[in-house]
Parts: sequence; structure tokens; C-alpha cells
Amino acid sequence: MKADRTITELLAEKRPLLSIEFFPPKNEEGGEQLLRTAEALRPYKPDFVSITYGAGGTTRERTFKYAKILRQDFGWLVMPHLTCVGSTKAELVDIVGAYHADGIRNIMALRGDPPKGANEFVPCPDGLRYASDLIALIRGNFPDMCLGAGAYPEKHPEAASMEEDLDHLKIKADAGASFLTTQLFFDNEHYFQFVDACRARGIDLPILPGLLPPLSLAQIQRFGPMCGCSLPDALVEQLQVVDDNPRAAEAVGVTWAYHQIRELLRHGAPGVHLYILNRSASAITLARSLGHAA
Ligand SMILES: Cc1cc2nc3c(=O)[nH]c(=O)nc-3n(C[C@H](O)[C@H](O)[C@H](O)COP(=O)(O)OP(=O)(O)OC[C@H]3O[C@@H](n4cnc5c(N)ncnc54)[C@H](O)[C@@H]3O)c2cc1C
Repeated sequence: MKADRTITELLAEKRPLLSIEFFPPKNEEGGEQLLRTAEALRPYKPDFVSITYGAGGTTRERTFKYAKILRQDFGWLVMPHLTCVGSTKAELVDIVGAYHADGIRNIMALRGDPPKGANEFVPCPDGLRYASDLIALIRGNFPDMCLGAGAYPEKHPEAASMEEDLDHLKIKADAGASFLTTQLFFDNEHYFQFVDACRARGIDLPILPGLLPPLSLAQIQRFGPMCGCSLPDALVEQLQVVDDNPRAAEAVGVTWAYHQIRELLRHGAPGVHLYILNRSASAITLARSLGHAA
């Protein structure tokens, strides 16, 4: 099958990219929801879409299945995620090999989180410990793969300090990452400072900001601490006012994300990656704001 374009090629066009993240649904109902969302987003032509790999490596087949659907039925450039969790090195090479044989040339390479209930990441026997190991493994076996890697403007929760985390990020870049996508953040200052810190360390990769358009106060209070992302007082206050009105809360969230995007693009961010949780409404409004008109 014809090989996909790489995200590196898209980034070289120097126009603001829009990427959208889906997660592989657990059941048929979730599958229908994902397809409805994809259908609603079809006219807005995202530059690429990514599909996550479930905690504990539990969604290997589902990630594969939905990556195929989004690529073949929607004609989108797809970047499946892959983590080190639960797979040996040989299995990881097989998974990437299957994507490669299909023509997929973009993978988001991650360590992954420990399975539910475990607080420490333990590599599986003959598996890998860090995302940098996975990146090196893929780069060695499939030199033409474009590899995204995760980055944490407010530090990865397990890292002892930002300095230490940046040292590890440099290892990831040197192992062969092609670009970085950030963990979500609600205050752009964190992104700007992070980009400066990366550049000062010789990490020159494009850094795509990852944004979650908030849906409610409860949602960001749950996601924020989980992702190591702080909550600006102004956002919390605005969501508190509309706490009993989900539609109004969503509108507050979209407006917040809209202003984040405008500022990020004005200051040179290469685009935006939206964590949409398989819902379309905020993504459509934000896609329009990026000029991806229907
Ligand atoms: C854009 C994005 C997409 C994501 N998608 C998924 C997904 O699909 N599925 C999923 O399960 N999770 C996903 N995650 C979550 C991610 O798996 C977790 O944040 C995980 O805890 C770390 O993954 P990583 O690839 O950043 O790991 P790593 O880069 O390996 O870092 C993990 C920790 O180890 C440290 N470290 C790294 N290298 C070294 C080293 N050489 N020596 C010592 N310490 C080191 C780092 O400082 C960090 O604290 C995603 C995260 C992001 C930002």
C-alpha cells in the first residue's frame, strides 16, 4: 500500500497544523460515538489524527482497527500511539511492522502509564523501560517512520525536577524522535517557558501544544492533577459560575481554548493538538477558528 506522508513533511510546510486525538472505544456504543464524531469533523479536514493506545497495552487490536477505519474510510493521515506496556521488544517490532506494511509512516512512541492499580512502571520481561528505548528500537528497524514523542511543559509527574525531565527529553530527541506533542496545559506561559528551556538544551524538535477544551470544572479538577497540569484561577472561577449548566460550561471551555490557540499560534507554535475525548462540538468550533472551514 502507498506510504503515508510524514508529519515532519507537514510541519515543514510552516502552516498551523490541526491534529485531533481519538481514543479506541471499549464497546460498540463507544465505536458508534467515535464514528459520529469523525463524521462531524470530516468537513474540517484535520491535518492528521492520532489514536491512543490503552493503559496496560489493552487496546492493541482496537487501536489498530480504528486507525485503519480513520485512515481508509475518512482518508485522514493517521498516527497510532504505541506504548512499551505489556509487550516484548519483538512484539513491538511486529506491531510497528504491521503498520509499516500497511503504509503508515507516523507513530506516537510512548512509555505508557503503569496498569490500573500499579503506581510504578515495571517493564515487561524482554520489554522496554523508557520511551527513548522504544524510539531507538523503531528508528533502528524502520528508519523512515516519523516518530512523535510526549513532552511535559509542567514536568512529568514522576520526574524529580524539570531539569531532570529535560535531560530525559534530550535523550528521547537524540534517540530519533521527529517531533514532540505536549501534555495538556491551560496556561500558555508553561508552554512558552518550556519551549525556551528545550531550545536552551539543544532540543530543536517542533513542539506541538496539546490542548483539552474543558467541559466542566469537575473534569479539569480530575484531569489536571492526573496529568500534572495546573489549573489557572481565572479558568476555575469562570467554570464555577456555570457549574450547574453543562452547555454554558462547555462554552467557557471552548472560549478558553480558543484564546489559548490564538496566542500560541501568534507566538509561533506549529499548530495545535486537540484532546477531544471522542466528542466533536468543541473541536468543530476550534477547527473553524484555525481556518479549517467546512
Ligand atoms: C501526547 C501524549 C500522548 C499520550 N498517549 C498515550 C497513550 O496513547 N497511551 C498511554 O498509555 N499513555 C499515553 N500518554 C501518557 C504517557 O504514556 C505517560 O505520561 C507516561 O507516564 C510517560 O510516557 P512518556 O512516553 O512520556 O515516557 P518517558 O519519556 O519514558 O518518561 C517517563 C518518565 O521517565 C523519565 N525518564 C525518561 N527517560 C529516562 C531515562 N533515560 N532515565 C531515567 N528516567 C527517564 C522521565 O523523566 C519521566 O518521568 C500520552 C502522553 C502524551 C504527552
